[in-house]
Amino acid sequence: METVTKKACETHVYRALDEVTAETEAFPIMETMNKGEELSTSCDFCQQAAVYVVSNMQSPPIS
Ligand SMILES: [Zn+2]
Repeated sequence: METVTKKACETHVYRALDEVTAETEAFPIMETMNKGEELSTSCDFCQQAAVYVVSNMQSPPIS
């Protein structure tokens, strides 16, 4: 299955969910970005810092 991942701020998280759903026809998974990671990652839809990661797959377990 194709993996689609989008990063979004508070404002654009619903848009990210919509797009992942439209592109994959799968139920999207929304996760909060890790501290530190959010400071260096910007939203896919604007210039703000991303808060959420939306994807169609679960993140691999941290080993
Ligand atoms: Zn945004």
